[in-house]
Amino acid sequence: MASKREKAYQDMLGRSPKHIQFNGKNSDLYGNSVFHHDVMREYLPSDAFDSIIEAIQTGATLDRKIADQVASAMKDWALTKGATHYTHWFQPLTGATAEKHDAFFKPIGPGKAIERFDGDLLVQQEPDASSFPNGGIRNTFEARGYTAWDPSSPAFVIGKTLCIPTIFISYTGESLDYKMPLLKALHAVDNAASEVCQYFDKQVTRVNATLGWEQEYFLIDQALFNARPDIMMTGRALFGHSPAKGQQLDDHYFGSIPERATAFMREFETEALLLGIPVTTRHNEVAPNQFECAPIFEECNLANDHNLLLMDLMEKIAQKHHFRVLLHEKPFAGVNGSGKHNNWSLGTNTGVNLLAPGKNPKSNLQFLTFFVNTIKAIHDYSDILRASIASAGNDHRLGANEAPPAIISVFIGSQLSQVLDDLEKSVKAGKMTPEDKTELKLNIGKIPQILLDNTDRNRTSPFAFTGNKFEFRAVGSSSNCASAMIALNTIVAKQLRVFKKEVDKRIASGEGKDEAILKQLQKDIKASKKIRFEGNGYSEDWVKDATKRGLSNLKDTPRALEVWGHKEVKKLFAELEILTERELEARQEIEYEKYILKVQIEARIMNDMAQSHIIPAVIDYQNRIIKNIQGLNDVLGAKAAKEAGKTQLLILEDLSRHLNELKSNCDQMLLARKKANKLDHAAEKATAYCDEVKKYFEPIRYHADKLELLVDDSQWPLPKFREILFAR
Ligand code: ADP
Ligand code: MG
Repeated sequence: MASKREKAYQDMLGRSPKHIQFNGKNSDLYGNSVFHHDVMREYLPSDAFDSIIEAIQTGATLDRKIADQVASAMKDWALTKGATHYTHWFQPLTGATAEKHDAFFKPIGPGKAIERFDGDLLVQQEPDASSFPNGGIRNTFEARGYTAWDPSSPAFVIGKTLCIPTIFISYTGESLDYKMPLLKALHAVDNAASEVCQYFDKQVTRVNATLGWEQEYFLIDQALFNARPDIMMTGRALFGHSPAKGQQLDDHYFGSIPERATAFMREFETEALLLGIPVTTRHNEVAPNQFECAPIFEECNLANDHNLLLMDLMEKIAQKHHFRVLLHEKPFAGVNGSGKHNNWSLGTNTGVNLLAPGKNPKSNLQFLTFFVNTIKAIHDYSDILRASIASAGNDHRLGANEAPPAIISVFIGSQLSQVLDDLEKSVKAGKMTPEDKTELKLNIGKIPQILLDNTDRNRTSPFAFTGNKFEFRAVGSSSNCASAMIALNTIVAKQLRVFKKEVDKRIASGEGKDEAILKQLQKDIKASKKIRFEGNGYSEDWVKDATKRGLSNLKDTPRALEVWGHKEVKKLFAELEILTERELEARQEIEYEKYILKVQIEARIMNDMAQSHIIPAVIDYQNRIIKNIQGLNDVLGAKAAKEAGKTQLLILEDLSRHLNELKSNCDQMLLARKKANKLDHAAEKATAYCDEVKKYFEPIRYHADKLELLVDDSQWPLPKFREILFAR
């Protein structure tokens, strides 16, 4: 009988690539399933259209009558797309997206029905949400949580469902999702940045944070996925010896994409385009069967919705092609993990990218202002940024010599380093003469629009300037970008506020505007110097250097999450009205819980697989060897058999040694888990799981992986890395 593993393999090979038929231009598809501006204009009376556009732009609330009109237009449009149901689409703190579908259909009498959808149903819904994480904010008996329409992200149709992007809040108004605080953080950075822009251009009335994410993922065959309980249940391989050929040759990177994977990509990209997600880039990543997809950047809230939608789409469409998508940060030990780079910038309503160097001294001073303020924000609040990307999965990546370290630093390239160093030196103390100012401006005017460093990027930096935007690279592949974006936009908003206050003070005390700005920039450049690092972030030396500089190195999730409990952090989020103390505490609690659960599940699966997959396979194989030795004895006699069975005996000893070690580590882990489970406090429990339970993962895996090499290949019950990663 074929083993489970052989069967999975045969299943997989029996499949031919599926091709989807699609004739036509991508531009014809784009946004076809979205209730966007043009569609709204077509379906709405002009005054209703104007009101909704205003609501989108200013965040003003819509009156009931308009909401009814929008709902009715949305429904009419959705029906033409074949929709039968609608749902409020939201982002609970589990990290996934959630939806509860209701039908438009409403019976109105015997044998009679209509399609109904009105303003009430559009604006608010009450999902039975008692099982979503709320960190103690909402008692389960008081299960009421509301979803409320976010008009700034357009509704869309997937399959037969009209999806309405919404925020998710408790009965008492506390946010239970990622979207609400993100919208607030975007609002805060809009206000703060617009104010600072007034120094340079009075036309600026709005500043949008922009986000361009790059999503990495693995694609593996569904049959092999199903034959690996660890990958199936945790998203990563808890066991598995590295293949003889890994990614050493780098031959996968930008190589040609295998046909089956291409068919999958083609289909999900088509779906993405229909949903208005501007995906343009696809290529292989460094690791075998690893890929990346990136759209053109968009306004941050929309870009984030699009990322979540895309992750969801990928998983659904992969299954149609008998693939599974792995979004885990580190599915395979010894093989590169997956991240989600967040490219971030600020753009004005006048069409200026505030993080792009300009053509003249004035626009360059504006660029430098936003550039230096961002660096200063990262300097002052690096721990917040670190905490925002903390997760059990990302712990495997950060600081693991392939991804940015857990130490937050900023890379800006040699040209801009020079500019900042010069500025630091050349702004004179005391009153500046007109000549001083002219010279300074001349120098600032010399910043080239296209920076050379754009080409020699530092891939080891967690937060790098890449010519006209910053790229936050430490974000995990499975996470909701909102978490990082809430943190980043909040701290930049805070810093810009402080900056504005300081500059205004200087102006009030008689300094000219430019001089005031320059002097404040100089001060901030000096104060934030230690966060700037141009060297190799993967090196051991950096860890030492960073410690000397006094930078934090929050190595794991439980340590990073402590930040949310700090008084200053709570104050900051409350002051900017992003999250109240209670909301922040709830979030911290939820993150601890998520961490505990993840590690707990991994520990359980590890134990189960060791007990019921690996140990029996090893014992079977031992029996075969024992039989062989007995046979040799029978045929050759004890003396000759001793010589003839030397290798068998050695293997037998090796098997027993690793088997005993495997079992004893599993037993110890079980005890550690029992002890950890007794702890009540979430932070303590998470720390115990991190320090006392997780430490057994490595030895357990080490011995299991040794056994994988020793046991007859045909008897090994689990698909091996070489099959999972190289099978096409
Ligand atoms: P590459 O890094 O491959 O050379 P780019 O530098 O053009 O390509 O962009 C990388 C990512 O940065 C893309 O996802 C892109 O959409 C995004 N991006 C470019 N400009 C901005 C911006 N102003 N704001 C946010 N993201 C941006
Ligand atoms: Mg990148």
